[in-house]
Amino acid sequence: MTTLLEPGQIPQASGEPPRVLTPDAKDVFAHRARRFVQLAEGHPLGDYLRFMSRLAQAQQQALDALPAVPVPDDEAKSQSSQHGMPLVPAQSWPRDPVWRAALSIILCEAAPAASETAAASIKAVGAIDDTALEGLAERVLRTELYGEHADKLPFVAAALQVYWTKLAVQLGAAAIAPLDVPGVCPCCGALPSVSVIGASPEVPGLRYLHCSLCNTEWHMTRAQCTACDAAESSVAYRHIEGDKGLVQAETCDVCKSYLKIVRRDKDASADPVADDLATLALDILVDESGYSRSGPNLLLVPGGG
Ligand SMILES: [Zn+2]
Ligand SMILES: [Zn+2]
Repeated sequence: MTTLLEPGQIPQASGEPPRVLTPDAKDVFAHRARRFVQLAEGHPLGDYLRFMSRLAQAQQQALDALPAVPVPDDEAKSQSSQHGMPLVPAQSWPRDPVWRAALSIILCEAAPAASETAAASIKAVGAIDDTALEGLAERVLRTELYGEHADKLPFVAAALQVYWTKLAVQLGAAAIAPLDVPGVCPCCGALPSVSVIGASPEVPGLRYLHCSLCNTEWHMTRAQCTACDAAESSVAYRHIEGDKGLVQAETCDVCKSYLKIVRRDKDASADPVADDLATLALDILVDESGYSRSGPNLLLVPGGG
């Protein structure tokens, strides 16, 4: 059995796995963009995945261009950790309007690669005033991804991901203490989009949850439901026949939810967001068996594509 560090303890060089991993600012979205291109090859949704590659590339450009943003001071950090709260909660952190500058870059860079439908959404987002944009941001951060304007939300989400990734990078893993609630991001409180095995070469075989908003990853024991903590006996795995099992769905019979697992230990080029969007067939299969997905992919247009 693995001995885990107490919350707040900084991982030592003694071979203890890091509890929290923050994203690599130089490559997080660029890596994703390269993976989308690989996955597009021969894929029935190839055109969509190639566009998503361009979008991820635009996110990297926006992140590269983003100046340092205000982060919580030491007092605020210790308050959060005393109360077991995330440091920059998605729903209450006073987000800097600079996220809208990231949005402008993303719209501008992604537009030339857009399909007719996506181009119309991009144009429409570009025409929205700041107040309404902040309203759409609120919806994304509350994970209300359905309904009117749903086609515009992935672009807003892409910009919010850039801003929250910047926050995670500036805070750094040592400042982010694991929470008592293992199912939400210790940095921003958002839900995980998937879990990953072998999240970095230093931690082969360990499972981390990947934040749908800020790209932070945090450790969680394998073979345990990420939504309700049910133990191994309630958890099962499914994958699509013939796909090498790189992406599996971990289903839980207690809460009837599932979350995908991306096996980076089997292929280091795999990416939590790109491999998720390239395996929507697996979601359909598992949905049809009566399980509902416990974490969102903020870049997905519900019912669209
Ligand atoms: Zn997060
Ligand atoms: Zn469960």
